[in-house]
Amino acid sequence: MERLLTRPLVANLGNFDGGASPVTSVYLGLESATEARKTVLLRFKDLVSEHADRLFADRSHAEKAAIRADIDKVNNFLATLPKVDMSGLAIFSCSDKNFFETIGMPDPFRPQLIVSRRPAVAPLVAALEDYKRIAVCIVDRRNARLYEYFTGRMEEISAFSDDVPGRTKVAGWAGWQESRIARSVERREVIHLKNAAEVLFEQFRLRGFDWLFLAVRPELREPFENVLHTHVRDRLKGFIEATMVTPADEVRTKTMALAEKLKNDEDLALVTRVIETASAAGPAVAGLQKTLEALNLAAVSTLVVRAGASKKGVFCSNCGLLGIKRADCSSCGRAVSQADNIIHVAEEAAMAQGATIRHLKRPSPLDDYDGIGALTRFPVKNGTV
Ligand SMILES: [Zn+2]
Repeated sequence: MERLLTRPLVANLGNFDGGASPVTSVYLGLESATEARKTVLLRFKDLVSEHADRLFADRSHAEKAAIRADIDKVNNFLATLPKVDMSGLAIFSCSDKNFFETIGMPDPFRPQLIVSRRPAVAPLVAALEDYKRIAVCIVDRRNARLYEYFTGRMEEISAFSDDVPGRTKVAGWAGWQESRIARSVERREVIHLKNAAEVLFEQFRLRGFDWLFLAVRPELREPFENVLHTHVRDRLKGFIEATMVTPADEVRTKTMALAEKLKNDEDLALVTRVIETASAAGPAVAGLQKTLEALNLAAVSTLVVRAGASKKGVFCSNCGLLGIKRADCSSCGRAVSQADNIIHVAEEAAMAQGATIRHLKRPSPLDDYDGIGALTRFPVKNGTV
């Protein structure tokens, strides 16, 4: 089945070199994760017929045969998919080298069919920026359970108990005995919390999660936060309500809801920063034209794009210059190529200049600026587009 997206996996894919053999990269977006297999196949067929002319133009017989073999393989894969539980599918095939990889994502990809020498991993790299790896830690007086959440999936990575006596009332012969027992329980609780914090730090070093969510009763919150390692505490982003007996799927649902809320807050803060900085003539741009200018100057550090945004444009396949409308490249003078969606080309360009890409899933004020903007390394004056 599809593999879970990780940075090493994307790096590995990106390093695959087909040499003389073409590599076919397919991105599919399904409207829902439960879409019928038949619909998925139809979508792929549409994608192929839409791109057929361009795919097979100027190719040798061997290359054409290799691309056809890739398309057959993808077709077979989709036709025998046991269950579609992801809305986004990425498939890479190089039949000549017997290379075939698939990756599923909870959000749909923009449908794309690309044939090149290497797997086209740009949309995957962008997706990595969009998702946080989240540690979810449930702690009570004697137990701790740790989950890892990423791209809609969650798995338990650690669970343990410490021997802490229950808080039974001791009918004692003197008040001091009761308080002595209470103190000993508290000491053991602290040891337990420290153990839990230790496990968290260990997993943080192993897995490098971005965010930490805690499920902990109010009276344990402060004592637990106090024993967290600084690096771990820095990643604490919020709290969910859950106990040791909460079903994993419920923990997952709550984690997903909080993650989406935080992501949305972050996105809105980023959009506000882009628009305000751009209108103050600082290091940011908003709108398609200004963003393309910034990309042409290799000035973009973070590209912000509304998911699904689409605009026509032009690009120079010789020197890479991007534009909205012109016949010839203003840099090298060659005739430019038309792009059905210049935003996709802009994303590739941003990736090539080492920028991060952030996709906005929800409406935001950036929608009034063609759904595209960027933080830049320096203020961009009027220029090249
Ligand atoms: Zn050019």
